This record gives sequence, C-alpha cells and structure tokens, in this order.
Amino acid sequence: MAQHFLLSAASRTLKLKDIYRAGEDAAYLKFRALRWPETDGAAVCPRCGCAETYDLSTRRKFKCKACYHQFSVTSGTIFASRKLAFVDMLAAICIIANASKGLSAVQLSRDVGVQYKTAFVLAHKIREALARETAETKLDREVEIDGAYFGGHIRPANLEAKRVDRRLSEHQTGKRRVVIALRQRKGRTLTFVRKSEADGVSIARDRIAPGAFVHADEASHWDNLDAFFPVARINHSEGYSINGVCTNQAESYFSRLRRMVAGQHHHVSPQYLHQYAAHAAWLEDHRRETNGALAGRIVRNAMAAPVSRQWKGYWQRHPR
Ligand SMILES: [Zn+2]
Repeated sequence: MAQHFLLSAASRTLKLKDIYRAGEDAAYLKFRALRWPETDGAAVCPRCGCAETYDLSTRRKFKCKACYHQFSVTSGTIFASRKLAFVDMLAAICIIANASKGLSAVQLSRDVGVQYKTAFVLAHKIREALARETAETKLDREVEIDGAYFGGHIRPANLEAKRVDRRLSEHQTGKRRVVIALRQRKGRTLTFVRKSEADGVSIARDRIAPGAFVHADEASHWDNLDAFFPVARINHSEGYSINGVCTNQAESYFSRLRRMVAGQHHHVSPQYLHQYAAHAAWLEDHRRETNGALAGRIVRNAMAAPVSRQWKGYWQRHPR
C-alpha cells in the first residue's frame, strides 16, 4: 500500500525541538531572511527603500541612513508590535503548519505557553496573511463550484412539546451562512461567505476566467452559470461522479472545513467564518508540502502582509 504523504519522513522537515534548540537569535535571523530575501536578510528601509542602515542591535532595530526612519524586522507587517519572542513566534508557526485541520486558540496558547488572547490574535493574523495568496487569483481550465452551510445551529428543546420546526425562518438565529467554494482541479481553492448560495453565480463571473469549464450540482440557481461558461451538472441523486462530471474536489475541501469547525473551533460566528474557510482552503491546496515549506510560507506571507486593520490592537478595542 502506498504510504500516505503525511506519514512519510519527507513530509517532516521542521521540528519544534530544533527551533527551541537553535534559540532566539536564530529565529530572529530567520524572520530577517524571509522579510528581506533580496538582501539576504540585510535590513531595507520600509519607508524609502534605502538598504543602508545603522544597526541598533541591542534593541533589534534599524535606523535608515537616508531618512532616519527607525524600524524593526516586523515594522509595517501584520506582525508589527508583536509581544512574543521570535522563537515563540516561530514555534507557534510550526505548530499551526503541523495542524492539518487547523487548531483552536486554546490549544495554541497551551502549546506555546502564552495567553489565550495572544494566541487568538496571532492565529487570526496568520489566517489573514495566508488568504492574501489567492486575493487576486482567477481560476481557469476546469473549475468546480459548490456551497455548504455552517453555523446557526438551533438546539432542539428538551421537551417534545416545546420543540419547533427549525427549518422555518422565524425560528432561525440569523447566524447561518453558506461557504461558497470555487476549486480549480489541480489548482487553487477560493472561498466566500454569503447568506445565499445563489450569490456564487456573480462570484464565478468575477473569479473564473472566461472559457473555463465549470462543474456544478443540480441546484437550480447554477442554471444562471450557463450564460457565462460551458457548464456540466451532476445530479447527486443519480451519482457523485458520472463521466468525469463531479464536484468531489469541492466536497473534499468542505469535509476538511467541517472537521476543522467541528473538531477545533466548535462554534464559529459569521464574522470569522471567512477566515476559517480561507485557512482550510490554504491547507487543502498545500496538503502535499512539507511542514517546513508550510511554515516558510506562513512567515513569508506574514512578512509581506500589511498591518491588519481588523486584528491590530484587537483586545484594546474588545476588552473583556
Ligand atoms: Zn528610509
């Protein structure tokens, strides 16, 4: 039997014990190398682009020789005003890279030994940075489109007499959302959170290249795709895949997201669902990469991502 990739030695190129053994200075140099790859980790002023700096090494800061701007390796990035040591940041990133179904902020805070609030914001900043990989991506060739509903679970009342018909809109919580996934076969997965799956038609127009071939299920709103793409439909009451027509790749993505939500996050509010959806898509698209490659991607994406409007100073704005 062929060995599953995640069980092979080739999938393990990064170890937590090596990160901690190498220590804080090595972790710091790793961040510098991935922030400034074109200068081999030598500082470049984020304000004016000048590569000549004074090294204020005791504070791990730099001062630009041209414009006198003071900055650090994380200034202007999504990791700006970080509170963790670099070695703990790198360990957290390794743990997140290893979690193929994502992980909760509680678990991350325990593993790294930091406050829950710190782990919560760090993980969300990383999700925001990862989503940037596909922010401009257009899908091509063969694309599957599908939707799946998440959240807004209504617990049935204990006593039968008090139970209501949970399908009726007056009994819904208003928190139910659909994740719409567009997945190119052998390509990327794009995800969107909406109230109605029918919104997927206009999303497809925006994000699928004209001329691509689209696979969709029998839901009637997908009829409207015909105006823009050649479309093949699979009727799931007849089969899951008939003559190559299927949405199985989109379904694989949804099963990863369901396991992530059910096993790690338990409840997701509508406002964060898009971040979990994007994280699961990233994991799905890079599932064949080593954990070292994934961790490198996380750091590179984070170093290229600007300061987060949503997550910077989050707990100052949301005290509790
Ligand atoms: Zn400068």
